[in-house]
Amino acid sequence: MIDLHSHTLHSDGTDTPEQLALLGEAAGLHALALTDHDTLDGIPAFLAMQDKVKVRLIVGTELSCRFLGRSLHMLGLLVDPADEVFQGRLRELRGRRDDRNGRMVLKLQELGFHITTEDVQAQAKSPLLSRVHFAKALAAKGYVKHPQQAFEGILDDNGRAFVPREELEPDIAARWIHEAGGVPVVAHPGRFAGGKFQWDEAMADLQRKGLEGFEAFYGEYAAGQQSYFTALAARLGMVMSGGSDYHGANKPGLALGRGRGGLRVPDELLEGLEARQKRGSWN
Ligand code: AMP
Ligand code: MN
Ligand code: MN
Ligand code: MN
Repeated sequence: MIDLHSHTLHSDGTDTPEQLALLGEAAGLHALALTDHDTLDGIPAFLAMQDKVKVRLIVGTELSCRFLGRSLHMLGLLVDPADEVFQGRLRELRGRRDDRNGRMVLKLQELGFHITTEDVQAQAKSPLLSRVHFAKALAAKGYVKHPQQAFEGILDDNGRAFVPREELEPDIAARWIHEAGGVPVVAHPGRFAGGKFQWDEAMADLQRKGLEGFEAFYGEYAAGQQSYFTALAARLGMVMSGGSDYHGANKPGLALGRGRGGLRVPDELLEGLEARQKRGSWN
């Protein structure tokens, strides 16, 4: 059993990279990928744990793309963390996020919420701020009863204070991941567009744009979704990935390796991803 999608406090999660590696060991995983959003900052501490745990520690990151007018997440698995060009590209993405967050603070202030960037930063353990931290800041100031309520009209995609982030085109993201020696796969396609989206043609389109595979196994899929995506991968000749999308205390009830309980990602998926990486099929 493996888990190729998880987060630490370097993005939306709550565990340190060291804790995550130990949790992977305790869960009896054979491999565990750390895939924080827009950053590899947790990777050195994560890989430093390799001689203390038997679980194989895998490098990854998660990027946000724009596809069919919506946000689509892409994992870059097996990227080289020493690749300076890729690190610079990630820094650029984080800069775009900071710009957007600054504009969202101004918009909240215009709407009468007395929230500063410092208030938002106070809710985060790392410099990477997301709407999750905005939601916690609004709750801490008493504007909403609990953070989730901030996603009902204020911070959600249709919310009054929402400011969109400039997101990557999928072909650009796939190229960046390839150039860093990794394998680009679509994260949780079964969550796209509310989960009712018909993927067959759209996935073939992403394949033409350089995507190699997608998550056929995911911490929050229903059984029917897993079998649909497994069959789709076979039809298109794409590789499969899978993981829990573990976020620590930020996603209560979701366990590393096991998701909401029924998840079990087979070891062979990692072999398939590594075969893709070696083949370098994008060249
Ligand atoms: P950002 O990357 O700053 O746009 O924030 C994205 C994060 O906000 C996601 O990872 C979710 O954790 C959270 N989020 C976005 N929309 C919602 C929603 N409708 N309900 C709850 N959380 C959400
Ligand atoms: Mn997240
Ligand atoms: Mn995601
Ligand atoms: Mn994720």
